[in-house]
Amino acid sequence: MNPPRRLRSVVEVFGEEAGRWGLRGVLGVAPFDDVYRALMPIQGRRLEELCGDALTSMRSAISIAYAYPREAVEAIPLQGYRESWNIYAEAYHRLNEALNETAERVAEEVEGVYIPATLEGIAGEVDRVEDYYGATVSHRVAAELAGVGWRGRSGLIVNPRYASAIRLATIYTPRPLPSTGPSEGSCGGCRACLEACPLLRAERLGEDYRELCRRYILALEARGLEADVCGRCVRACVESFDSGYMGSHLNPAWIERPLYID
Ligand code: SF4
Ligand code: SF4
Repeated sequence: MNPPRRLRSVVEVFGEEAGRWGLRGVLGVAPFDDVYRALMPIQGRRLEELCGDALTSMRSAISIAYAYPREAVEAIPLQGYRESWNIYAEAYHRLNEALNETAERVAEEVEGVYIPATLEGIAGEVDRVEDYYGATVSHRVAAELAGVGWRGRSGLIVNPRYASAIRLATIYTPRPLPSTGPSEGSCGGCRACLEACPLLRAERLGEDYRELCRRYILALEARGLEADVCGRCVRACVESFDSGYMGSHLNPAWIERPLYID
């Protein structure tokens, strides 16, 4: 990987952090205005609060992602409840921690503002999933526009190398950095996540799967799962990639545009 000159120091910091955490990652850049315009109005207002007076000088959004280790994805049961699910839950906490520390360091490097990976524990603190929207700023919007991945049928960002087994954070910066986006991928004929999850199929019938998903996760936590996660759709996505379908359907030029840390 040979990053453009203006991105070198950012990629260097990301690489150092990925090495420190023993994780693989991907980084992309989108024009700030494109991300700001694409956010839900309530999240645009949250971004205004977080950036304060610096908002008008912002030029770029840096999307970073770490990939789940393979064994964490394989610990997700495709049916029933299994104690191994907590291996995935532990990886979720660790990826969030790694992303938050990495995003903080990248923000220092580019004199920017970072949005942490997630608000852990929020599923049980809101009455409806909509209550969550104003509390943070979507990482998925920045990731799509930065070319890190496309919005999959599961609603998750799907990266051409790691499928949807990634977690995201975003850094906003006044530096004009070269864009690596937008995403050109799509799920094509794949429907693996829909086959794995009845709640995603319910979305097709007009139900809001995100609210159903939130309630399902709360039920899992009541059984002993130690994070706001489920991940069956993630495992299904990874297994679909294993089948080789995506390799034959995605544009090879786009796949190489974001910057990978292996
Ligand atoms: S996290 Fe679980 S419940 Fe939620 S959409 Fe994915 S598979 Fe379905
Ligand atoms: S499982 Fe298939 S359809 Fe679902 S998000 Fe992944 S690639 Fe898209």
